[in-house]
Amino acid sequence: MDKISKALVFDGMVKVAALDTTEIVQKAIELHHTTPVASVILGKLLTLGAYMGNELKSEHDKLSISLTCNGPLEGAVVAATNGTVRGYVLNPKVSAPSLGNGKQNTGKVIGEGKIKVIKDLGLKECYTGTSEIVNGSIDEDFAWYFTSSEGQPTALALSVNLDEAGNCTSAGGIVIQPMPGCPEHILVMLEDIAMNFAEIDRLVARRDAHHLIDDYFGHFSIQYFEPTTPVYQCICSPTYMKGVVRTIGRAECVNILMERGEIEIVCHFCNTKYRFDKQAVIDIWQEYDRIVKAAKEQESKQE
Ligand SMILES: [Zn+2]
Repeated sequence: MDKISKALVFDGMVKVAALDTTEIVQKAIELHHTTPVASVILGKLLTLGAYMGNELKSEHDKLSISLTCNGPLEGAVVAATNGTVRGYVLNPKVSAPSLGNGKQNTGKVIGEGKIKVIKDLGLKECYTGTSEIVNGSIDEDFAWYFTSSEGQPTALALSVNLDEAGNCTSAGGIVIQPMPGCPEHILVMLEDIAMNFAEIDRLVARRDAHHLIDDYFGHFSIQYFEPTTPVYQCICSPTYMKGVVRTIGRAECVNILMERGEIEIVCHFCNTKYRFDKQAVIDIWQEYDRIVKAAKEQESKQE
């Protein structure tokens, strides 16, 4: 089972989260048939999605992370709620010579680009944060994102380990964030701790999020929280996809039906195919007309 383990250290001055996202990443690899370099990028983004989703306060809150780039990966999208995460890369077949030691050259396939995070917290407007890609390692890109865009200094190390066949043997990481007002001498200690991030692959390979916090902070007093289990889960459904059919527009729906006899929509997150034949599309638009008519009648009654 995957796990997010959280704790406070240094008398509550520093938040630490350790994640085991092995099953989430393996599920994504099976769904999207990603190459090793694409698996590492998607796996790290899913781990971040699971972490950021876990930070959401309400079960109705949601967020999306999109990576747009000029490299052959073309981009990636991850969406999350508190407890669920899902995602895909635009070009799952992308490849690049590895860097040796099993390290994938993620920077090569990402190139230059931007990170954009949208959080829907149930307020009138969504929160949007953006930052530039630093080097395509994902780790440094998001450390910079949190610091520059959300004003939250962050040290993080992520890891996706794959076997020869490209399956995920372990994935996860650690995210360290000082609270506002954290004293300087603690920040200096955090910098020292972050120096040991090179060990992250080996530590994540044990699949023990609780121990991962001990590894870095074991010689300080740690206040642990109850761990949670994030899962890879898509939210698509026939009802949701009917809404997508409407976004195509009536005229375009007719064009597609004349050309192909049906409308097929594939969910990018889980590759489920939804087919709507002529009658189904007519029903969708008749239902839409009924809703619009009812809304108009309601409006004229109020006037
Ligand atoms: Zn889906």
